[in-house]
Formats: sequence, C-alpha cells, structure tokens
Amino acid sequence: MDLNSAAIRDADPATDCVWMAEASAESTALWTHKSRITLFLSAMRHHRELLRETGFTVHYTELTDAETTLAKLLVRDIKALSPKKLVCIEPGEWRITQMLETVSEETAVPLEIRIDDHFYCTRNDFAQHAEGRKQLRMEFFYRELRRRENVLMDGSGPAGGAWNFDKDNRRSFDKNGPGVPPAPPSFAPDAITREVIALVNKRFPDHPGQLEHFDWAVTREDALTALDDFIAHRLPLFGDYQDAMWTNEPFLYHSLLSPAMNLKLLNPREVVDAAETAWQQDPERYPINAVEGFIRQILGWREYVRGIYWHFMPEYLHRNTLQATHDLPDFYWTGDTDMVCLKDAIGQTLDYGYAHHIQRLMVTGLYALLYGVDPKQVHEWYLAVYVDAVEWVELPNTLGMSQFGDGGVMASKPYVATGKYIQRMSNYCADCRFNPAHATGEDACPFTTLYWDFLQRHQDRLKINQRMTMQLRNLDRKKPEELAAIRNQAKLLRQKE
Ligand code: FAD
Ligand code: SF4
Repeated sequence: MDLNSAAIRDADPATDCVWMAEASAESTALWTHKSRITLFLSAMRHHRELLRETGFTVHYTELTDAETTLAKLLVRDIKALSPKKLVCIEPGEWRITQMLETVSEETAVPLEIRIDDHFYCTRNDFAQHAEGRKQLRMEFFYRELRRRENVLMDGSGPAGGAWNFDKDNRRSFDKNGPGVPPAPPSFAPDAITREVIALVNKRFPDHPGQLEHFDWAVTREDALTALDDFIAHRLPLFGDYQDAMWTNEPFLYHSLLSPAMNLKLLNPREVVDAAETAWQQDPERYPINAVEGFIRQILGWREYVRGIYWHFMPEYLHRNTLQATHDLPDFYWTGDTDMVCLKDAIGQTLDYGYAHHIQRLMVTGLYALLYGVDPKQVHEWYLAVYVDAVEWVELPNTLGMSQFGDGGVMASKPYVATGKYIQRMSNYCADCRFNPAHATGEDACPFTTLYWDFLQRHQDRLKINQRMTMQLRNLDRKKPEELAAIRNQAKLLRQKE
C-alpha cells in the first residue's frame, strides 16, 4: 500500500486502473480478530482515497452482507471490465498466488506477478542462499545480508566487533518493574476508520477481540510518525528489555511496527536506516546492543522467515514432526485461565491484537507446544488474532520456530522451558496460584509439569540433538516415581482442559 509499489510504479492513470476488493471470506475463513479485520480494511480504504487523489480510477468493492470470496469478485470484475492484463506484486500467501493464477488461466487474462521490493531479499536470492546447504540457519543468512547491504559494517567486519549482541539483550526488570515506559503514539480513528469499526462490529459481532482500543497506524503518514516515535523514545532500551514481560504492560520498549511493514505502509529499508542513522549520530544514546538487536529482527528474522515460507510451501503447512494432535484449549479465545502469564498475554491479544515476541514464543507458543496441540490449530489461532498476521511471516514463526513442527528448519531445537523461565523474565508468577518450581502437586505450575512430560514423550527424538543434551541429562536425574507422577499430573491437566 504504497504509491511506489512495483505494481503501479509504471502505471498510467489515463489507461490503467486499480482493482481492490473486500471479500468477506478473507475475514470468516478463520475466526479473525476484529482489530485485524479493521486494520486491513481501514488501510485499504485509506489507500483507495490516496490513489483516487493521485488520479487513478479505482474499482473497489466494499464488504457486503453476502458471503463471497476474492476469486469470485475478481472473476466478476474481469468480465465487467475486460482488462488486457492483470499486474500485482507477490502476494503474502501461497493460497492467494494460486488463486490469481487459476483466475488468470480460467479467464484467459495474462497475469504478471512482480517482485515485491518491500523486502531486501528476493525469493531467488533465498533459493541461492539455500542451495547446497544441508542446514539453514538465520545467523549465516543475516551476516550475508549485512555484508551485501552494508548495514552496521565497519569495513569488512561487523560494527562494534560482533555480529550479534544477544547476550546483552536478556534483562528482566527488578521488583519495581518498568516504571512508566514511554507509551507508543495513538492514532485516533478518523471518519474512515470509524466507519470500518461500525461495519466490523455489525458484520462480525461474535469474532474475538474488541475495538475499544483501536488506534493502529492506517496510513503511511501515521506509520512514519510511529517510526520516528519509536526511534526517539523506545529504541535506546529495546535491546536490554527485548525479552522482558510485565503484567498490564503490553508494549514496553517494542516498536509495534510489524503491521505497518507488513501492510507496506513502511519499507523495512527505511526502518533499518532510521535505526542505523540514530546509532551513527548518537552512539551513547543508542547503544549497539539495542540497534543491532532491532536491526537483526528485521534484516535477519523477517527476511529469513519469508525465505523459509516460499522455499518450503505448500508442504510446509502440513508438517507435524512431533505428531501433536491435541485441540487448542478453549481459553486461548477468552483468556479465561488461572495461569497469570497466559491470562495476561491472551488478554492483551484480545484487547489490542498485539503481544510481543517473547509472549508469543515463550508463553502462548510454549504452552501449546508442551501441551501437544496440533500445530495447524496453533497456526490458525496466531493467523487469526494478531494485527500483523500474514501467512508468510506467521506460519514459519508458529509452526516452525514455536511448535518445532518443521523438525528443525526454523530453530535448531525446540524452544522449551519450565515456568521458571517465565518467572525470571516477568512478574507473572508472583501473582499466580501456581509455583513454577513445582512439577507435581496442587500448586504445580502447568508449564513445569508439561515441560518434564514433553521431554519424556520426545526423549528418543531429542537425544540425537546435541543442543538438548543438558536438558535431557536433567531429565535422567529424576527418579522413576517422580517421572510417573509428572506423567500422571500432565494427563490430568489435559483431561481438565
Ligand atoms: P519488535 O519487537 O519491535 O521487532 C521489530 C520488528 O522486527 C517487528 O516489527 C518485525 O517486523 C520484526 N520481527 C521481529 N521478530 C520477528 C520474527 N521472528 N519474524 C519476523 N519478523 C520479526 N510477526 C509478524 O509480523 N506477523 C506475525 O503474524 C507473526 N507471528 C508470530 C507468531 C509466533 C508464534 C512468533 C513466536 C512470532 C511471530 N511474529 C510475527 C514475529 C514477532 O513476534 C512480531 O513480528 C513482533 O512481535 C511484532 O511486534 P513489534 O513490531 O513490536 O516487534
Ligand atoms: Fe505462568 Fe506457571 Fe508462572 Fe503461573 S507459575 S504465571 S502458570 S509460569
């Protein structure tokens, strides 16, 4: 959603027109969060206005009560408008690419899919990187891109003397908590967004989430303000507290820029440039651990997961290495649980359509992994509830990084821990009726019970992974009766939910 998009950069408003459509099936195929629907529709409608102001004819279908798909709307309009050719940029989902190709074939209108230059790395670049490698790892990919793009480089080596400052980025808050972290900017809904909010509340009243707090950036102008605000106020401590969590503090020092980048309101290059420039101009205020940590998320992880998605789709979607088959517990849709960490992470997800990375990975994701939820169900939940969710980025993060469903493509080992990890990184456990040190008994923390149960269930598979040696050694130290009690407690826990 950028006037500089490769889809329209060479278009002539006198002869070319833009086609956009709101198809109800895109909101109902999954039980999508109201904020996600609102954000997508509002950003589309704002973009429509901008295109019209620029002189383009925009054929735009607004959402109606009738249930319909994008394919049906496109075929209908191809018949009415008889275009000579369809031009678009690479979609964010394999399914949509298939749909466009099918429609083009069936209507005999040629389709040109152009490279999306809202990414540093093309699909071809990634395929070349992957070629001949037995194992893919983000760190090597990231270093290649740093060199190629000359980002945070000092001659031929990394700025600051290291490629990665992660060891400095694991601080938690002391008992006084984060104080009052600088609040991210709020973009009050304008007339277009208010109209969409009313529509979503009327059309999807029983969908998860609520719209009371909706204040996401829906235009490029808003998104640029959000970027400036993050660089000025929250980037300096981004690195230190990247992994920290605190009750009722949904945003802390995070950027909240993923929806704007995924909707193409911001180009990741301008986000990375802004962080690097801040560091160059004032390295005391912007320490290298903060700037490198932030840039790695975008230049590294974001580009890498996109590469993984297109490299392994469509079979990636069906991977389930750990053969997990349980249903997602109902409380994921309500937050109605005694587990304070999950209540907080799910509660803010329902309120804002947002949780930060460690909440997604080490609270909601960790619980589903330890519980043994079918990764496809976990994937569908993440795709439905976050405002930044688009399949190319959500699927490898969920099915791969968080659920180990891809058997180690995204992560070299499963991200598993007991409740003690959550205790170390947050204040959640202080107010919880469970005890993260206990695996059995009345006050056993379900994360801790399920962690030891997980290691037992997957011991054979995991023992060939050297990175799991320490964890499995600790399992071996447990007495058989303790292990049996843990298995029993895990079974009861699953029966309850
Ligand atoms: P910040 O913490 O400020 O990070 C800066 C930017 O780095 C983000 O805006 C994002 O663009 C990028 N980034 C950080 N981590 C990742 C990552 N692992 N993969 C890709 N980009 C990353 N991100 C999405 O954009 N959409 C999703 O649907 C999504 N689903 C996820 C599901 C799971 C299970 C997990 C573990 C992570 C998921 N992520 C997803 C990645 C990450 O959690 C979010 O990008 C981040 O929390 C967005 O908040 P922020 O903008 O405040 O990020
Ligand atoms: Fe979560 Fe366990 Fe801590 Fe409770 S004790 S907040 S369930 S980790």
